[in-house]
Amino acid sequence: MKEASRILSQACREGRKSLLETEAKTICVEYGIPVTRFELAGSAEEAVKFANRIGFPTVLKIVSQDIIHKSDIGGVIIDLKNADDVRHGYNQILQNVKKNNSKARIAGVLVQEMAPSSTEVIVGATKDPQFGPAIMFGLGGVFVEVLKDVTFRIAPITEDDAREMISEVKAYPLLKGYRNTPPADIDTIVKILLNTSRLVTDHMEIKELDLNPVIVYEKGAKTVDARIILE
Ligand code: ADP
Ligand code: MG
Repeated sequence: MKEASRILSQACREGRKSLLETEAKTICVEYGIPVTRFELAGSAEEAVKFANRIGFPTVLKIVSQDIIHKSDIGGVIIDLKNADDVRHGYNQILQNVKKNNSKARIAGVLVQEMAPSSTEVIVGATKDPQFGPAIMFGLGGVFVEVLKDVTFRIAPITEDDAREMISEVKAYPLLKGYRNTPPADIDTIVKILLNTSRLVTDHMEIKELDLNPVIVYEKGAKTVDARIILE
């Protein structure tokens, strides 16, 4: 909670309305929400060094307070297989961003572990002016975006609430495994929902939180993208 408070108050002092992915993920880690390993690089060579440490394939992402939707502007490159890919990817991302928003303030390029694909879920929180923060759950991709197959509970939620949320979405059977996708680790999703609830009730200055996607495995899960919007 110490690190979260420090990051949130610093962002407030700077008059920012959103956290960087690095900041949001640091808070997630403090709250026991699993994320992909990451390090922030300030040069192509540093990105290569971090990629060697984290392992290949790797992912690069722009980190800028002025860019909320990174892939819309070519700010995300996945599946980089070697040092040369990383060097090129680094320069490509900066070029893409410059072309799109020449004034964007750039904090660096995030090098992160590439999470193998599996079932994707979305965990979110939004603040209702009357009831305070509500926790949201759904399965990734078309289920949330097209079918709006999501469920909400007012925070703080209990473990029973979390289990109910998971089992009441229409896409729930997919979590039990299908074709080549193994069953998803429901207990880990429960923990992520509970920890998200704790995070947003501890920090009422959070207006919106979005873990999208969280990739869930047979054992464990990895949050690939985390967004936190402030009041
Ligand atoms: P944004 O939502 O800001 O455009 P994301 O960080 O969500 O950017 O990246 C876009 C997409 O790229 C994700 O939805 C996911 O499919 C893929 N992706 C991003 N990071 C990773 C990662 N570390 N491992 C695997 N896939 C990733
Ligand atoms: Mg995303």
